[in-house]
Amino acid sequence: MIVVMKRSATEEDIQSMVEHVEALKMKPVVLRGTERTVIAAIGEERVAGIGSLESGPGVDEVLPILAPYKLASRELKQEPTVVRAGTLTVGGDRIGVIAGPCSVESRDQICSTARAVKAAGATALRGGAFKPRTSPYSFQGLKEEGLKLLAAARDETGLAVVTEVIAPDDVELVSDYADVLQIGARNMQNYRLLEAAGKSSRPVLLKRGPSATVDEWLLAAEYILDAGNPNVMLCERGIRTFESHTRFTLPLASAPYVHQKTHLPIVIDPSHGTGHTSLVTAMARASIAAGADGLIVEVHPNPDKAMSDGYQSQTFAQFDEMMHECRRVAAAMDKQLG
Ligand code: PEP
Ligand code: MN
Repeated sequence: MIVVMKRSATEEDIQSMVEHVEALKMKPVVLRGTERTVIAAIGEERVAGIGSLESGPGVDEVLPILAPYKLASRELKQEPTVVRAGTLTVGGDRIGVIAGPCSVESRDQICSTARAVKAAGATALRGGAFKPRTSPYSFQGLKEEGLKLLAAARDETGLAVVTEVIAPDDVELVSDYADVLQIGARNMQNYRLLEAAGKSSRPVLLKRGPSATVDEWLLAAEYILDAGNPNVMLCERGIRTFESHTRFTLPLASAPYVHQKTHLPIVIDPSHGTGHTSLVTAMARASIAAGADGLIVEVHPNPDKAMSDGYQSQTFAQFDEMMHECRRVAAAMDKQLG
């Protein structure tokens, strides 16, 4: 339920409603807007006594939240959420650009990439230290050593670091080095991991599972929000379909659809979404035109030699050209790229 307080409601009125909601065995979440305060009452809505909320002091109206996700829903919060982490801003009129290699491979590789993507206008550095690979025999990442190299690249360039965490027990370690925790497509429904990320103070980039519906994706985001972390960015990275000319099928309608359903920002990944370097720039431009709040793109100093996802990674020059083209689309959308 959403308890909308009157403009004239006092702090005592709000506190009294918080206690009232708790007495109904629901969890109160107070959202203070510029105009008025609303209290989300999260939990089983069919409990006895819910009607009594309406007559509480300072209450204007009580509305049901119809979406299965509550904290993520637009019904609860109309203003778009803007997520900030160091140099990265995602949402509102800013389109954040997260760029870097699929995997961190060496100091020289990650630092040279950080310098190049920063010069081209990226606002955050990506790079996997813990890699969830389809095969156990593929490169699994440099792990903590990779995190240290990412931190060194941040020290040198100032760019915020986005990197994946694949296990609940690693959240603390990864949070020590990263500015943003990435939860990968394969882990979108790893509920213990979502809860652990929800307890972290770091913003989370939640990738869509390749077989997940939008509702399942938003319910996964709800786990993070419900655990106390309000800074969630959704990431559309393509879904599995019958089509095989691209690695995944990138549904760009996710951007406007997600904007209708949730206040959370959406970042689009045209690298995994297509699986072919030659298709990335066009889909990045289209993502911005569709309303993306951010892009995440794989860039490598020498894609032919990359230890993972080289076939979809851009060279520095290709990334620079993509940024020029995307800047023009962003301007047409009255947004700023970067
Ligand atoms: C990645 O970002 O390199 C990655 C593994 O992505 P996804 O989880 O979307 O497959
Ligand atoms: Mn990758």
